[in-house]
Amino acid sequence: DDEVTRFLRAHPDVEGVEYLLSDLNGVARGKWGPPQSLAKAATVGLNFPLSVFGLDVWGREVPDIGLHVETGDRDGYCPLAPGTLRLVPWARRPTAQAILTMLTEGGRPFEGDPRQQLRFAVDRLARLGLKAVAAFELEFYLLDPNAASPPDGGLASVFSGVGGPARENVYGLSDLAAYNDLFTEIRTAGMAQGLPVDTIVSEGAPGQFEVNLKHRGDAFAAADDAIMLRRLIVETARRHGLKATFMAKPFMDRNGNGMHVHVSLLDREGRNIFAAAGDGERRLGRSVAGLVEAMVASTLLFIPTWNGFRRLQPGSYAPTRASWGHNNRSVAVRVPASEPHARRVEHRLAGADANPYLVLAAVLNAMADGLEREANPPPPVDLNAYEAPVPALPATMDEAIRHFERSDFVRKAFGVEFRKLFATVKRAEMQAFLEEISPLERSTFL
Ligand code: GLU
Ligand code: MG
Ligand code: MG
Repeated sequence: DDEVTRFLRAHPDVEGVEYLLSDLNGVARGKWGPPQSLAKAATVGLNFPLSVFGLDVWGREVPDIGLHVETGDRDGYCPLAPGTLRLVPWARRPTAQAILTMLTEGGRPFEGDPRQQLRFAVDRLARLGLKAVAAFELEFYLLDPNAASPPDGGLASVFSGVGGPARENVYGLSDLAAYNDLFTEIRTAGMAQGLPVDTIVSEGAPGQFEVNLKHRGDAFAAADDAIMLRRLIVETARRHGLKATFMAKPFMDRNGNGMHVHVSLLDREGRNIFAAAGDGERRLGRSVAGLVEAMVASTLLFIPTWNGFRRLQPGSYAPTRASWGHNNRSVAVRVPASEPHARRVEHRLAGADANPYLVLAAVLNAMADGLEREANPPPPVDLNAYEAPVPALPATMDEAIRHFERSDFVRKAFGVEFRKLFATVKRAEMQAFLEEISPLERSTFL
């Protein structure tokens, strides 16, 4: 039996289906359909305009994309991504949810769909006889719409200490206990959705938390799980009267929200290649070399927003340089201390608001690139990586776009069309921020 038939037999009372695609920034977009629509979704696919991926840039004209405006925003066909159909535990009425993936006419993968970009990366590794195992960690703030607003007019987080010093409470169990119901619900809803929710901690800033996923299966499962988990956290928090935000840097004076991803590579027999007695260390080095060498060119995929660049601050545990090291939280690529079978890299650059498919695609392509070229890594950074003599990451969106659009690594990994598309959309977004006169400018210069 196919997935849909089995699902509907197990859940005959389902009243609706939430279909989702993940836009260039990883925001879930989509529509609701009746259960009958699942048959079409499973075969030809549902129709969505190409602009569903956020190519519209908030209603602005983006000339020169060639995939969207110039073609009248035609529809793509979006079939179900296998293995993603599940129940929505937070919905009041029985509701299902599924992730879609876009094909253009003729059934070709649409290169503007981030999930298809991950497919290209997975295929590249497969040509090397490798398969990735990955898992994401997600940081976020819980905002309290009822708390007193801070002076800047923004929303206050829980524990924000408005009117007093903000309370730092990393790994504080009492902060978790204060929201025990919410975190328990996140875990049980995750279980009901098949999301491997692992540890939950209070992070380094007041009101900041982190939920970690365990790995299960392949790269698609990891990125699908991250999309589903963000959706689950947002909706569960909403039910508790709170707003969860994955914005990379909501508070200038507190740590930002990161989205670390852990990756190991398996050979055809399913063995972790980094653990192999003979050449495990060498292949880990090649992968790390690929990651640090590709980092400046691909920063835009990890930090896709105007706001995200504010997160890359010395001392914040978010990286500022293309560095790597063992068991060091100030580097961009960390090789955590682990048992041999769990040998892996932790890529620490992405903001929590990045698109997990694109982040993982960039990571896997960079690892493949290092292995293909048999590249050697620079020396590891053992101490403070913010001062290490290695290349600095782009500090602004403008700089990141310039590196991205010229990169051969990006062209080879993502294709020339996607490189142009992403750079064009990001430049249009940047323009919107550049054209906004800030309150500080007025108060300083008026
Ligand atoms: N919040 C830090 C970041 O922006 C990461 C903190 C950590 O988990 O080490 O990436
Ligand atoms: Mg963390
Ligand atoms: Mg981490």
